[in-house]
Amino acid sequence: MKRYQMLIGGNWVDSVSGQTRELRDPANGEVVASVPEASREDARAAIDAARVAFDRGPWRKTTALDRGKLLFKLAEALTKEADALARLEVQSCGKPLAEAQFDVADAANCFEFYGGLATKIAGETMNVPANSLSFVVREPLGVCGQIIPWNYPLLMAAWKLAPALAAGNTCVLKPSELTPLTALELGRILTEVGFPPGVVNIITGPGAGAGEELAESPHVDKVAFTGGTVTGRKILLASSGNLKKVTLELGGKNPNIVFADADFEAAVDGALFGAFANQGEVCSAGSRLLVERSIHDRLVAGMVEKIPRVKVGHGLDPATKMGPLVSAAHRDKVESYIRIGVEEGARLVCGGKRPADPALAKGHFLEPTIFVDVKPSMRIAREEIFGPVLSVIPFDTEEEAIAIANDSEYGLAAAVWTKNLTRAHRVIRELRAGITWVNTYHPTFNEMPWGGYKQSGTGRELGLYGIEAYLETKQVNINL
Ligand code: NAD
Repeated sequence: MKRYQMLIGGNWVDSVSGQTRELRDPANGEVVASVPEASREDARAAIDAARVAFDRGPWRKTTALDRGKLLFKLAEALTKEADALARLEVQSCGKPLAEAQFDVADAANCFEFYGGLATKIAGETMNVPANSLSFVVREPLGVCGQIIPWNYPLLMAAWKLAPALAAGNTCVLKPSELTPLTALELGRILTEVGFPPGVVNIITGPGAGAGEELAESPHVDKVAFTGGTVTGRKILLASSGNLKKVTLELGGKNPNIVFADADFEAAVDGALFGAFANQGEVCSAGSRLLVERSIHDRLVAGMVEKIPRVKVGHGLDPATKMGPLVSAAHRDKVESYIRIGVEEGARLVCGGKRPADPALAKGHFLEPTIFVDVKPSMRIAREEIFGPVLSVIPFDTEEEAIAIANDSEYGLAAAVWTKNLTRAHRVIRELRAGITWVNTYHPTFNEMPWGGYKQSGTGRELGLYGIEAYLETKQVNINL
């Protein structure tokens, strides 16, 4: 068993309390590693290190070109270790190896993308009604507390660190207590490629204590959070003490709308991928499938026929398309929703239980699950389950589809399947969601802004918007 330490001020350290947490492979319960269990005290040490690195370290004097070059080096180094990182990711959160490989490549691309953007940060000169040279400069925000979930451990770390570092900030990253290993490996790699001590600090520990300290601390200038909406609300309140800048990437209950004129096979595949990729543990999962009534039964039959292809198994088995859920507690939660669905009167057409294969008995596996006869008012159609449970809802008209789609407290992602381009544009315009797809599901680009309407969050990550969220704006007026 590998024993990891945390990265604080360029040093690898244990928690002050000496407490550790054992991490197990969710597919078989085998111990993978142990990590320090950080408390508030450890978080404070990490914040102090980031503060010193920002206020007094060499980082602020590092040119944008050199920051960009370091990010390029980091992308390259990550790519060299891609295979080992992908395997560790599988053992951490359970996802299939092919998906983990994609995540590692995407994380490297994210560092590369923001490496390129570092030198494009620019201000502007304004014409003002006075004899003044007036211009706007962009500056880093300062110390950023970054709190991330367990479903894309390395990729979420990249989404947070890359724009913050490109903009010249220093960071304290707190991965989920369930999946901190690839973030710690990332910490090792970025230290090796030459990021100065204290620029990136990584603490491993729970939200209670360590995470709360990041949100509350008056020495943190910004908190960037990805996780559940309930936690997001707490973070917003906790961060109000010093009015730190806040970005929140929260949950979703995303509508995937299939019209009768869609490419049928593509829609079936898209519905399955939207619902079951990454075990359905995706904020943007297409967990509500809205289907035009005239093709409803055929589409459901098409999905049920193909469901055996969503093969459940250990993520390292090349045949696996769906791994275990991240933890026993999380599987319990997902199973409770399956019971709720049945009690509410929805009908299971597949799944709903743990796989019978005895080889999977020690993991937190669940079969891909599809409910039909789902009414929009049911809890399984309204609440984020964050697991492999799809709720299928029929509709009769375009207006009804839009109304059902928007009838949610969330507004993260949405998709439309139709061959009618006019309809696609018309419907997309009406959907209250920050991320939309037409005739596809899930493609995510570093170049495009990611984030939600309504209670799916505030602010945007990725793209040019992502770096904006890590910059201050200063006006300068020189009397001539
Ligand atoms: P979570 O909210 O339980 O935890 C997320 C992170 O917050 C963890 O690091 C946790 O330790 C920390 N945390 C928990 N309570 C805290 C507190 N009071 N103060 C500070 N930190 C705290 O979420 P999770 O279960 O890890 O992840 C699943 C959720 O994440 C889902 O709701 C999902 O939709 C969301 N998510 C959203 C996006 C997005 O981009 N919108 C992406 C991935 C996941």
